[in-house]
Amino acid sequence: MPRRPLRVAILGATGAVGQELLQLLEERAFPVAELLPLASPRSAGQSLRWQERSLTIQPVEEGVFEGVDLVLASAGGSVSRRWAPLAAAAGAVVIDNSSAFRLHPAVPLVVPEVNPESARGHRGIIANPNCTTILLTLALAPLQARRRIERVVVSTYQSASGAGARAMEELRDLSRTVLDGGEPVSTVLPHSLAFNLFLHNSPLQPNGYCEEELKMLHETRKIMGLPELRLSATCVRVPVLRAHSEAVNIRFEEPFPVDEARALLARAPGVELIENFETNRFPMPTDVTGRDPVAVGRIRQDLSDPNALELWLCGDQIRKGAALNAVQIAELLLQDRPGGEA
Ligand code: NAP
Repeated sequence: MPRRPLRVAILGATGAVGQELLQLLEERAFPVAELLPLASPRSAGQSLRWQERSLTIQPVEEGVFEGVDLVLASAGGSVSRRWAPLAAAAGAVVIDNSSAFRLHPAVPLVVPEVNPESARGHRGIIANPNCTTILLTLALAPLQARRRIERVVVSTYQSASGAGARAMEELRDLSRTVLDGGEPVSTVLPHSLAFNLFLHNSPLQPNGYCEEELKMLHETRKIMGLPELRLSATCVRVPVLRAHSEAVNIRFEEPFPVDEARALLARAPGVELIENFETNRFPMPTDVTGRDPVAVGRIRQDLSDPNALELWLCGDQIRKGAALNAVQIAELLLQDRPGGEA
């Protein structure tokens, strides 16, 4: 990565993650010399505002990545599969939010608080993990550093925003329809999420798990360097606009005193403890919406297993689960420039 301010392309600039990326680059004063917003032909030619400037959205096409240093990609797997290798071949580093390259052995899968060193081995493409997995590993890593984790059982409560900007809009619209006494008919998500919930809509696999649940298994193993980790997930879409929640049961190879786990999580990077047993106050999606940390709480001994702990967490998955994590990876690359701090 060169030492000068960078030419940065946002691939998927009009999407939920793309919009957050634009905001974070500005908020975190990322050294941008030039910003290139890219989207589908549907949005090409429209303008968007960034840092008081009006920028014209361009379509992705041959030659568009020439001279670009960094591509932050969030336009889906098929777009990334087609364009990320071309961008890398043109000399850019691509940080990809899609699942296209996450399990590729030559592509680092990075959560900066957990495995920052992995980013160094990149060959032009770095994968940003699945959103629920990022949030989960932030809570698992500090505990695993103290006592080996044997098994994780996790249930997720995933917001509409995990399915993109149009799914959020659909939840707003269909909630109004229900309140007005109408029949909600979904066109973006497979079922109406208004006053409803359903099992995650990613494709079902022959073993009965859906793709999202298996992403949590395979990506957690790769990020944490635990290829044998046993993990079972149940992923559920809930009528929350933004921020995912997870109920997590963690079994260790020996008992883990609750107070020790709490103290570790309280000082873990990227984690915030929200926990008041007297007032029954624990993390909620609204605590973390638009914020960076993953909120953890209700850490308790599993009554059914002396070696296991239970905890609850919430995180803004558009931010830490996607855009913020990607920008933090880019910041790691800046630190690695010759002579340099970000
Ligand atoms: P989104 O709101 O639906 O946005 C999709 C973006 O991709 C839009 O900018 C869209 O442009 C662009 N796009 C679609 N087809 C394209 C094409 N053929 N060529 C160029 N651009 C194209 O989706 P999102 O939620 O931001 O998610 C984007 C990616 O991030 C996905 O891979 C998703 O799995 C991943 N991700 C999302 C989250 C999340 O919480 N939402 C978390 C982690 C990872 P137009 O506006 O022109 O259609």
